[in-house]
This record gives sequence, C-alpha cells and structure tokens, in this order.
Amino acid sequence: MPHISKTIKIGGFDHVNAVTIGGDSLVVIQTMWKDRLSFADLDSAARRIEGLSGMGCGLLRFAVPDLAAAEAVGRLADMVSMPLAADIHFDYKIALRCMDFPIAKIRINPGNIGGREKVRAVLEKAAEKGAAIRIGVNAGSLPQDLRDKFPPQSSRRDNSVANALVEAAERELAIFNEFGFTNVLVSMKASGIADTIKANRILARRTAAPLHIGVTEAGPLVAGIARSSAALVPLLAEGIGDTLRVSLSDSMENEVIAAREIAGAAAEIAAGSFTDHLSGEAGTAARLQRNGVRVISCPRCGRYGFDTHGFSSRWLPRLYALDRKISVAIMGCEVNGPQEACHADLGITGSGDKVLIFRHGEVVRIVAAAEADEAFARELEQTLRGVQMNERD
Ligand code: SF4
Repeated sequence: MPHISKTIKIGGFDHVNAVTIGGDSLVVIQTMWKDRLSFADLDSAARRIEGLSGMGCGLLRFAVPDLAAAEAVGRLADMVSMPLAADIHFDYKIALRCMDFPIAKIRINPGNIGGREKVRAVLEKAAEKGAAIRIGVNAGSLPQDLRDKFPPQSSRRDNSVANALVEAAERELAIFNEFGFTNVLVSMKASGIADTIKANRILARRTAAPLHIGVTEAGPLVAGIARSSAALVPLLAEGIGDTLRVSLSDSMENEVIAAREIAGAAAEIAAGSFTDHLSGEAGTAARLQRNGVRVISCPRCGRYGFDTHGFSSRWLPRLYALDRKISVAIMGCEVNGPQEACHADLGITGSGDKVLIFRHGEVVRIVAAAEADEAFARELEQTLRGVQMNERD
C-alpha cells in the first residue's frame, strides 16, 4: 500500500520558494553540495544553484561542520530562492546559528546530536523561524543502545538494521511529538539495498511523517545509480518516498539526472501495474512524473560516425533543464540512427565528417561535424517552439 503521508512546507518565507513535501505533491528531488563553501564561492554557487533548479532539483543540502560554515551557507541562503538545508552533526549550536539566516530546513542525526534539551532548543527555534527539520537516521551512526538491542543476525532474513533504523526514527519522532513540533520529515539511510527497502516499508506503515529516501555511500556513478535504482524504484513504485536523493561519488547535476530517471522508471511501473493505488487526489505515478526531456541514445558501436558520448556530456545538463515534454535522440550513425529513433521529436546522428539532424525520422539538416552543437541548438529551439504551439492549440 502507498504511504499516506501528511504535507509539510519547506521554505516559503522571505525570498525563499515554498516547496511542498508529502501528501499528493510531486516527489521532490534533492542533492547535496560536494565541497566546503567559502565566501569567495558564493556568486558562482548561486549561479550553479539556478542551473540545478532548472534541472528539477527542489532542495539543496549543505554540510555545516562548524560556525564558519554556517556563516557562508547562511549568506548564500540570502542570495538564492531554492530552499537550502543545513546538515548538522554533533553540535546543536550550529543548527541554532543557521536559523538566524533564511535556511529552510535543518537535518539532525539523532545518533549524535545530544540529549532532549538540545533537541528542544533546535525545535523551539525552528518553530519560531518556520524551518522544517529532517530526522536523518543513518545505519552507520545508530545510538549504541540500539546497536546492542539489534545485533546483526547470521540468517538471511536479518532485519536488525531495519529494525534499529525504525526504532531510532520513532524514538526521535516521539520527542518531536512531545514538544508539539510537526514540520518534520524522516530519512533512514543504509548502504544495504534490502535494509533500505525494509526500513522504509516498516516505517511507512507506522507514521504519517513524509519520508526522504536514499541509499547512503551508494558508490561511483554507475554502481551508485545501479544500487540506488534497485532500492528506490520499488519503494517509489509502491508509493513510499516523498523526496529522494541519489547519493553518488559524482556531480550534483548527475545526482539530479539520476533521481529524475529513477522517479520516471518508478512512474512507468506504477502506471502499468496494480500498485498504482490512489492516495488522495493523485496516484503514485502522477506524483513521480515531470514534464521534461526523454533522452534516447544508442550505446555506440564500431559503425559510429559521431562522438555521442562527448555530445551527451555537453548537452545533458541543458536538455534536463527543459520543462517541455520532448524526446531527443543522440545516435552514433545513420545506418540505424534516424530509423531506430524515428519517434524522437529531435535527433542527431553522424555520417562521415557530417552530422544529420532529424525530426521524427526525417532529416532536416546536414552540417559539418564541427558545427553540430550550434546547428542542434537552433533546431532544438525550433522544436520547442513547435511543442509550445501544439500545447496552446
Ligand atoms: Fe552502432 Fe549506429 Fe546503432 Fe549507434 S546507431 S549502436 S553507432 S549501429
């Protein structure tokens, strides 16, 4: 059964966009800044955040290891409209300082933030400022008593990690409840695929708090996407997960692209299976579908006459920033290119020292390979204008 979560709002104060998480809302994609932020980086960071926003990222998290980092992230929050989240471990005073700025969300780890009074101080300030809190439980930093209570079992049906994650989350939710703080969501992350699925399935049956899902330490690009897909697609297709991050040892932009593809794959399964139970107004598939590009590309082989890999890496961030529903084909050769991708709204393929640009299998332009990017940009603009006119009709 899908998780029927309640709705919470992230941001929506000062100049910060409001992002709704939970209920029937679109599942929100997040990523995390990969470096330590300094004051010298702020302008370029703001520009990069604009690009991420265009690609479909709704929320961006920053590690805030000390008060100096809180100043830099806080200053950045003054400059951008995307809600920013501060990730706090160990020192609750850093969370308090972050909330002097328009930081929209604080992530705390119950395994290391300290006792009830420290949590109370964070919640009181969050309530005053309108900030949301994520209880971020991590299998690698569970409280010691839960590790003792749920020791690893040797059986293949070992639920110790999942049970410990759920109990850690519920324990913290009970404290939040006691203090009357409701603007909260929960994540339980493990590096194990089965642990991630089990923990989220169990908690989804027991709480209405929205769930942020992801696999921690998933790995480099290919392995990380494979492992994240294995864990997140089944959960999302079942209607579990209100927001997600695909953690990769790779760029934030690739994390966002991976999350969109994972959500899209889950939407296809949900739409085509019996798991698309209605949750309120919208079905599971509807919560996962976005307007945007569908990229078709060939794997490339010895027949190729066009550097599809280089072209894709240059164009993917721009293509994923389009908010129109179009399909784009990037194919290696004319032998199979236009025919195999004849359903694409726009395609490009190689032929000797030329490239062919095609629409629905019809070649519309032939240019020298060196002019591929410029010609493709012009044809893409024209395609988008056509799609826009069709939408109006
Ligand atoms: Fe090979 Fe051409 Fe097919 Fe690409 S489109 S895989 S280059 S035959």
